[in-house]
Amino acid sequence: MTCPICKHGKMDKGFTTLVFEAGNSTIIVKKVPADVCDNCHESFIPEEISRKVLKTVDNEVKKGVELEVLHYAA
Ligand SMILES: [Zn+2]
Repeated sequence: MTCPICKHGKMDKGFTTLVFEAGNSTIIVKKVPADVCDNCHESFIPEEISRKVLKTVDNEVKKGVELEVLHYAA
């Protein structure tokens, strides 16, 4: 698969870190599986995984945490 952003790079399986900010909460999710471009380093997260991450983040935001660093759990 060729990178849809730079049109040159090749997509490799890798990991990325996502940062979400909602109200007073900052949630950092590390080690999220993603396809990463070897040229521009843009990362693309499969929909299924991003949905899971958003759900986790939503739970943390509801708890009212100010800062939380999580690792993606499959
Ligand atoms: Zn690229």
